[in-house]
Amino acid sequence: MEKFHKSFTQQEPIPESGINRAIEVMRSGRLHRYNVNQGETSEVTTLEENFAGYLGVDYCLACASGGYAMATALRAFGLKPGEPVLTNALTLSPVPGAIQAAGGNAVLIETTDQLVLDLDDLDRKLVATCARLLLISHMRGHIVDMDRLSEVLSRHGAVLIEDCAHTMGASWNNRPSGTFGIAACFSTQTYKHINSGEGGFLTSNDPALMARAIILSGSYMFYEHHTRGPKSEAYADTRLTTPNCSGRMDNLRASILIPQLALLDDRVQQWNVRYNVLEAELTGIPGLRVPSRPPEEQYVGSSIQFLVPDISSQQADKFLSICKQQGVELKWFGADEPRGYTSHYTSWRYLSTQALPHTDRVLRGLFDMRIPLTFSVVDCHLLGRIIRSGFETLHNL
Ligand SMILES: *Cc1c(COP(=O)(O)O)cnc(C)c1O
Repeated sequence: MEKFHKSFTQQEPIPESGINRAIEVMRSGRLHRYNVNQGETSEVTTLEENFAGYLGVDYCLACASGGYAMATALRAFGLKPGEPVLTNALTLSPVPGAIQAAGGNAVLIETTDQLVLDLDDLDRKLVATCARLLLISHMRGHIVDMDRLSEVLSRHGAVLIEDCAHTMGASWNNRPSGTFGIAACFSTQTYKHINSGEGGFLTSNDPALMARAIILSGSYMFYEHHTRGPKSEAYADTRLTTPNCSGRMDNLRASILIPQLALLDDRVQQWNVRYNVLEAELTGIPGLRVPSRPPEEQYVGSSIQFLVPDISSQQADKFLSICKQQGVELKWFGADEPRGYTSHYTSWRYLSTQALPHTDRVLRGLFDMRIPLTFSVVDCHLLGRIIRSGFETLHNL
């Protein structure tokens, strides 16, 4: 029996240049983003410049977390209390949490067998709710047909905000994920594509939205420090009418993100080599299906999902424990109770009760595995073999 020994929660170290820069920042004592000497550019400002440049957008705000970026985007958009916000039923809890925090009312959209938003259900719910806004979560990096999505939204005059927590570095038809809507939100939390422990970005090309977002983030009257924010005129209407809901990023975090951003495209390649190995290992197993990925989707394979349709709870738990015994940690979206980071939409009881029969079916058979870059290509072959043989064992019991 083969066994895997590495940790599924072990990240790569912070690049040495980032560690050295972080030490300099600590020695300087100037950790707050607006605490700059004459002529000095803060680490946070440099990071915002670099990320806006990377994505090809006008404005970028670095902030405390991805969840904070989402809530801030919704507030800066002008969400009204109790207003419906359409979002995925298949996502993680920071998404409905951000909608709740911004005073919205999350209305969940069905999930397809390819693990993306069901655009027909979206169409129906845009009509039924008259929602102005879709907060799409590109969950586990699966990108819906963005051309069709844009068509559906513009037909209803609805606006898009993207949750790109799992698509930093990804594209649809060579257009970066995060450039399709009025705003996009990214996370730099430890388990995402660049790691500062906690952190996030809000990006946009909309000057009015970004001016409000910068004031919301706790800029006080230092908004002119934001070289990747709009011109000062954009703040005229906003500066005294927008509340300060502090959620800034600090220079320490920014200093360790700057060199990681420079490595991002390299890392994307490494993830995809690993993803492709696992995908090949898991393809062709009867009863188990890896979602197919459309050619337009330039994904980041930092995790892999597969479906075992109609698996029972008992069998799913058995499968998880067989894999666990061999050192492989799978997550399962079908459990009755939330486990770790994974939860079913019915566990978000602060939302109104919603029936999503197709999503229920998808989640019941959905397994998920992280692919940290501390796993080698050889490791990924081994992981694939263990999952395959675990699945065969399950069927022979
Ligand atoms: C991690 C994550 C976020 C944001 O998370 P933070 O921990 O707040 O940075 C948003 N959406 C999804 C789908 C996530 O996994």
